[in-house]
Amino acid sequence: MIRGQAAISRNKGFGTRTEGFRGEVIHVGESPFQSAIREVLRPLEFAAQDDYARLSRVRDLPRTVASGLQRISEMSIPPDLKERLAGLARDFLDTEAARESAATADAVDSQVACIAAAQQLIAPMATAEWSEAQLAKSPSVLPGFGKKRAESLARRGLSTVGDLLFYLPARYEDRRSLARVGELEVGRRASFVARVLGASFSASRGRFGGRVFEARVGDDTGSVALKWFRGGESLAKQVRKDSLLFVSGDVKRYRFDKELTHPEISVLSESDRAFVESVDGGGGSDADRLQDARRIVPDYSTPDGVHPRGLRRAIALAVERYADFVPGYLPDPLCEELGLPAPAQSLRELHLPGAEADIDALVESRSPARTRLALEELYLLELGLGLRRAGFAAQPGTPIASGRESARAMARLPFALTSAQDRARREILADLARPHPMHRLLEGDVGCGKTAVAFLASVAVAEAGYQTAMMAPTELLAEQHEATLNGLAQKVGGTFRVARLTASLSREQTAQTCRALAAGEIDLVVGTHALFQQSVEFGALAFVIIDEQHRFGVRQRAALSAKALGDRVPHSLVMTATPIPRTLALTLYGDLDLSVIDELPPGRTPAETLLLRTGEGQQAAGRLRAAADRGEQIYVVYPLVAESEKIDLRAVIESAEKIRASFPDLRVDLVHGQMDAETRRETMARFARGETQVLVATTVIEVGVDVPNATLMIVEHAERFGLAQLHQLRGRVGRGEAPSTCVLVARSSTQDSEARLSALLETSDGFAIAEADLRIRGPGEFLGTQQHGRLPDLKIADLVRDIRHIATAREAALDKLRNDPGLARSSELARAVVARWGERLEWVGVG
Ligand code: ADP
Ligand code: MG
Repeated sequence: MIRGQAAISRNKGFGTRTEGFRGEVIHVGESPFQSAIREVLRPLEFAAQDDYARLSRVRDLPRTVASGLQRISEMSIPPDLKERLAGLARDFLDTEAARESAATADAVDSQVACIAAAQQLIAPMATAEWSEAQLAKSPSVLPGFGKKRAESLARRGLSTVGDLLFYLPARYEDRRSLARVGELEVGRRASFVARVLGASFSASRGRFGGRVFEARVGDDTGSVALKWFRGGESLAKQVRKDSLLFVSGDVKRYRFDKELTHPEISVLSESDRAFVESVDGGGGSDADRLQDARRIVPDYSTPDGVHPRGLRRAIALAVERYADFVPGYLPDPLCEELGLPAPAQSLRELHLPGAEADIDALVESRSPARTRLALEELYLLELGLGLRRAGFAAQPGTPIASGRESARAMARLPFALTSAQDRARREILADLARPHPMHRLLEGDVGCGKTAVAFLASVAVAEAGYQTAMMAPTELLAEQHEATLNGLAQKVGGTFRVARLTASLSREQTAQTCRALAAGEIDLVVGTHALFQQSVEFGALAFVIIDEQHRFGVRQRAALSAKALGDRVPHSLVMTATPIPRTLALTLYGDLDLSVIDELPPGRTPAETLLLRTGEGQQAAGRLRAAADRGEQIYVVYPLVAESEKIDLRAVIESAEKIRASFPDLRVDLVHGQMDAETRRETMARFARGETQVLVATTVIEVGVDVPNATLMIVEHAERFGLAQLHQLRGRVGRGEAPSTCVLVARSSTQDSEARLSALLETSDGFAIAEADLRIRGPGEFLGTQQHGRLPDLKIADLVRDIRHIATAREAALDKLRNDPGLARSSELARAVVARWGERLEWVGVG
């Protein structure tokens, strides 16, 4: 739109302006405005000391102050503030002139008055809070921005000027090179200059009921139609026959012609035309408007109800008037080393790129300006995580001295720990021995043996006289954990007592378990959220094991901690059900210590993975027959979008019938989540004992099932499963010595489903699969809703794209915290961390 265009063009040149205040030291946490004010304030304060005793000795004070104020008035700050500062500068120069012409007492008095007035005006501006208050203003302070517009922005989370500043363009459009009309390509955006051949309202009504305004424009290579379905009335005044337009928009096909609907236009003068036609643009000063139009234009993803050009204009104004209130927190040496501009300058470069900007870097989000802002954000996050770790380290805990039991249990296990398991075990035992609570993440692929490690740790806790609680998300998993742990306990002998506390227990069973727990007669209790209930009391809870797949919020964890002894925080071990790429883990769990089990127990042969398409079902049947003939067992898995979906469920039941009909000699069983727990358990147990050959199942078998004789898994509708889920499923075969196969049957295909399936065909390394999953789905989806709470709400940085920056920010933050533990000497920084991440990081008295 013409007006918007003009408004933005006033910002021209910001992109090229280098930092205007070199030589002034900007302290960490200071905005450029704040530090410039501080610089001006310094000589004023000096002169005012001891009742202006030194006034006559301060040389050039008015000129120094005036030029300082003058420079501030050129910063990206609001015009009324500029005006006030410039006025103050003029006052100073006036007093100087007066003093030069007559060194009277009056002149001195007026200078003193001027200094006092200046101090009074600008001293409050020298604080970080003052700059913050500017950024916290409503966008309605921007001209042309009514309350209504501000409200519609606020609904989209853009409720302050600061929010607008950090709402970065999603794309950039390069309007610097001009196309010829005859060469316009359908489906692309283009900018060109053309003359209006004719313009009129068409007889037909537009989609919105208004009159359609149409202009035919052209140059010597061809012509094209421009159409407006609304707003034609105001355009008609400017778009007349023979006027020269700068046009920018999407070229579309319309019948046999090309057209642009609602393009952005600027009306050019005749001298602009000369400029266009001279090859290297040596045109006169009138060509300015065209030059303004020919620029890199930021393109914001516009939320519903927000007009794109309106938003662009609002942001441009916010940058022009408020950017210099934005402070920076990254250490200077790092920014210098990486060649990063200050945040204020970065905002100018990103929102108002100059004509000479590196468009590729902007488009690919790798401009130094964007890097600076991403690093700023990640640095505060990493500092927060670091502070939280430090906070943990100071909490009171229960030291667990390892006696002999844990080592004895280890020796009695039917297998030797892998070296990765043993390393994790030792790390955990060492943590437990400390007087502060452990906060550790145990990461490892499906079947790497995390449970065994957790078990050995809880044996040490039991020997010291304390209890362990293990949290499971569902009844079924709690049952399976209980069975596994009981199995381990029996194998190692001893007196380790395991119990379960879930909602399905009878009231009497529950009461009995609760009594035993309170009396300290149970060493390890596996439970669901039933464990959080107020009536549940522990005799001596000191260790909490949480499977992160289990959707435990921070609050629930806190509720469990409250069941520990007095003010002592229990040790906690978070186990991931599927691996998380290391960098992501460091960000999500940067407050936890990390143990990685990156090795599978020996004797596992990874399953061979095959992909079949519709029509290749015969192959799957053939494999099923062959496996059964070898005396091995088979899983056939069906997706259930939700356990309640009846149609899906019927498909599973029908499939079981079909398999029974096709293989009458085989025993085929069916298990799904709608069966009652008892039937389900029996069905699984029959399969585990080898009494059934084929188990048709929904994803309930995903976790925990361990049948080494099962060597074939057929996954129906594999395209419907998530990557992590498929990897989990595949982990159910390949648990014994015999070679095993996972057959994925894809019934349809999307780009993402193909990417998932090919990742599975390529590798069986859980960490590599996690990386692929993260790339395909992005962090939000990757973590799923249950872990979403873990995901920091990043505005600029992207956990996938900015992995390198995460590492940089982390190092810088650790370095900072080493030099200034608790940020005791960096109050501005501590304040910023709390302001940005305090709530998320559950602040515990830092700063
Ligand atoms: P995770 O919980 O990491 O998926 P589990 O702890 O459930 O893995 O272990 C998977 C299976 O491997 C279990 O049957 C367990 O007994 C077995 N196992 C664990 N550690 C070893 C080992 N070091 N050697 C052989 N088998 C092991
Ligand atoms: Mg397990």
